[in-house]
Amino acid sequence: MLTADSVAAANEEVGPALEIYQDLARAHAQPLYELAVLLLEQPDIAWRVSEDALRRTWNSIAKDDLFVEPEEMLYRAVVREAARRLSHPGSRGYQPPTTGDERHIDAMGVAERFVPDQRAAVLLSVRMGTGYRFAATVTGLNEGRVRDLCFAARREYSESQRHGSSAPPACPNQLPLISARLDGELANQEAVALDAHVAGCDGCTAAWSLYEDFGTALKEIRLPLPERDPVERALELPIVRPQATGGRRLMQLAKGPAFMVVLLLAGLYVFRLFTPVPVETGVGRTPDLIYARAREGNETLVL
Ligand SMILES: [Zn+2]
Repeated sequence: MLTADSVAAANEEVGPALEIYQDLARAHAQPLYELAVLLLEQPDIAWRVSEDALRRTWNSIAKDDLFVEPEEMLYRAVVREAARRLSHPGSRGYQPPTTGDERHIDAMGVAERFVPDQRAAVLLSVRMGTGYRFAATVTGLNEGRVRDLCFAARREYSESQRHGSSAPPACPNQLPLISARLDGELANQEAVALDAHVAGCDGCTAAWSLYEDFGTALKEIRLPLPERDPVERALELPIVRPQATGGRRLMQLAKGPAFMVVLLLAGLYVFRLFTPVPVETGVGRTPDLIYARAREGNETLVL
């Protein structure tokens, strides 16, 4: 039974882990849910998938068995599950309302042309601005690939928007740099050189604004919210103290009574010295059976 006291006590015990999780939930529950909606369309499914990712990440934080940054584990879990679900026929990503802004429809249409893990990489980099390294770790692609995918997506989007435009052609060798610049992935010197070029080149200026508009359109899309605030729901997840794993549990058990065990062993040795005749067998009756009670609970250590 969970009472306010037992919850408070459990929370106190996992204090530092809980703080890490709460910071994570406040910063990421909302964007995580949004990524899930963009990938999976349905708010209820998106919430379930992101909730599962949050819960699993919380368990790993509490057990101290995280192998990657908690943010990475969180988003990776959502991307994997979305990719698995999207492999079923008939499943699709978010479709902006057909009555809405055509740019939104075009931008999501471009994203939809990529397979799920690539689509996730583009959404993470361009809509959420996570940077290529993070998007690569989360999707299992490499950074160079993520950079190329974002460039390809911007090129396709600008193709879809160019119709009728009389803008002069851009310089082909500057285009990938413009895309990387918009994702914050150009080194300072490169960025300065690119900006100087674009300032004096009409073709590249026109390309820049279309490339930039791809990100703007993706960011403008207002997604359906679940019934309750994702952050609030995420913060309610870790109220039950997770079970420690076997090895760790044993360590916890051993730490407390370790000193007492040493004393008891010494006691046994002394006791034996003065008890030359072995006594009758039977539980609790033999001098060889010594037990100690762990500090926290009802585990009994039998020697
Ligand atoms: Zn140019």
